[in-house]
Amino acid sequence: MVAYADAADEMFLRLKEAVSPSHSLPTDLLPEARTVVAYFLPFDEAVVRSNIEGRNASAAWARAYVETNQLISDLNSHIADALRAVGYQVATAPPTHNFNPEKLISDWSHRHVAYIAGLGTFGLNNMLITEKGCCGRLGTFVTDLVIEPTKRPDIESCLYKYSGTCIKCVEHCVNDALREDGFDRFKCYEMCLNNDRLHVDIPGIKDVCGKCLVGVPCSTVNPTGRLRSR
Ligand code: SF4
Ligand code: SF4
Repeated sequence: MVAYADAADEMFLRLKEAVSPSHSLPTDLLPEARTVVAYFLPFDEAVVRSNIEGRNASAAWARAYVETNQLISDLNSHIADALRAVGYQVATAPPTHNFNPEKLISDWSHRHVAYIAGLGTFGLNNMLITEKGCCGRLGTFVTDLVIEPTKRPDIESCLYKYSGTCIKCVEHCVNDALREDGFDRFKCYEMCLNNDRLHVDIPGIKDVCGKCLVGVPCSTVNPTGRLRSR
């Protein structure tokens, strides 16, 4: 799944309030930016199922995180090479760990950028719910190639936000980080670091958890998607 945003969309400016005053604009990554591209790589359903049981993240989930982040880096490099070969410029940001380690806030939030590009809407679990759900990884890049922007969804994908009929992600949280009325990013990261230590045999950074993403209505589909075509 891929979506496009006009790099001059004023919503990028609002990320300085919504995320952090230091959040980058597309033109900070590429001064001639015209388009921001966001895409979603969903995890295989077996990987999603593997993470439902237990308090700790499954090995398959941790491995999928590491391998998909690498795939995003490789994809971005490949696309950048292809676009540069025909005269366009491209700038990319790393798929993860581009955040302030004290505040745990990113200066290029792939989730927020993908939201602006129309790839989905935010769930109560703070993840972007795409047409393929929220279990997967997001990639983004900026280019001076002009592509028509994607229309943003006009219906909330999260059942809590749409109709107040779901709170499963909160019920699934294993470290009391996610609540109906807030999110403690430090408690969440504490759990993620536990999993990183647990899966020491898997190379790479696996500060993952994802228990609030699996076994829920928005894991692999957009639960309100069918309402859009009515
Ligand atoms: S589990 Fe339910 S409340 Fe939580 S993000 Fe998904 S749809 Fe929304
Ligand atoms: S990732 Fe884990 S600790 Fe963080 S909110 Fe989800 S279930 Fe809770």
